[in-house]
Amino acid sequence: MIQIKKYVRAAVDCLYPRRCPICHDIVMPKGSLLCTGCRQAVKPIEEPRCKSCGKKLMNEQSEFCLDCTQKTHHFDQGLGIFSYETIMKESILKFKYDGRREYAHYYAWAMVHYEGRQLKLWKPDVILPVPVHKKRRKKRGYNQAEELGKWLEHYTGIPMRADAVFRVVETAPQKKLDPAERRRNLGKAFMINPLYLRDNRLPWKTVLIVDDIYTTGSTIDNISKILKKNGVRKVYFMTICGGKGL
Ligand SMILES: [Zn+2]
Ligand SMILES: [Zn+2]
Repeated sequence: MIQIKKYVRAAVDCLYPRRCPICHDIVMPKGSLLCTGCRQAVKPIEEPRCKSCGKKLMNEQSEFCLDCTQKTHHFDQGLGIFSYETIMKESILKFKYDGRREYAHYYAWAMVHYEGRQLKLWKPDVILPVPVHKKRRKKRGYNQAEELGKWLEHYTGIPMRADAVFRVVETAPQKKLDPAERRRNLGKAFMINPLYLRDNRLPWKTVLIVDDIYTTGSTIDNISKILKKNGVRKVYFMTICGGKGL
């Protein structure tokens, strides 16, 4: 069986050679997730970073970014692996809108490679991808956060449940809205799948939310809020990219 899998893999690799998620060229050497040149180019966010949302801080002295000192989040802690800068922006654009769902493999690998220790400390019982509305999913063919969750499950053994939370309102693209509109828009956007509830409680104590980018955190905050309303004690998140802090 393993032998057959290997042959199938090799045939698929020949027909559709793996593309580098950073430069989008065919990856050499074969079997790597990233081409040699790009391996040097990608750098994860380093300390000092915000103790709450993981944003890179400019100031060694502060513990939290400006945003996190000004508001209380519903999530407990989280971080992004890379800065949302040119090369990662292009990578994620292709991942989300250009059908490159296989890039999730590298992103999840990077999460475990760079922040595996943090994941072990958080010890989540389950991985929940940020849901997209079913109409958008149908149009795109997949939910990018779910692809990420699948590979993270593969690497960590923590189960992913893509149907535990769903998006009930098809929200307008967030970037077109001002912050107040965003909050209103997101307030009622998510729902827990009742099939997971026993006496109004979810079966998990600790949850890890995964998504592609952390910007204002309002999406993750809204999901955290309903998770906690339904019995979850700790909510952490991990994203491919974090925003830049102040
Ligand atoms: Zn490359
Ligand atoms: Zn922060």
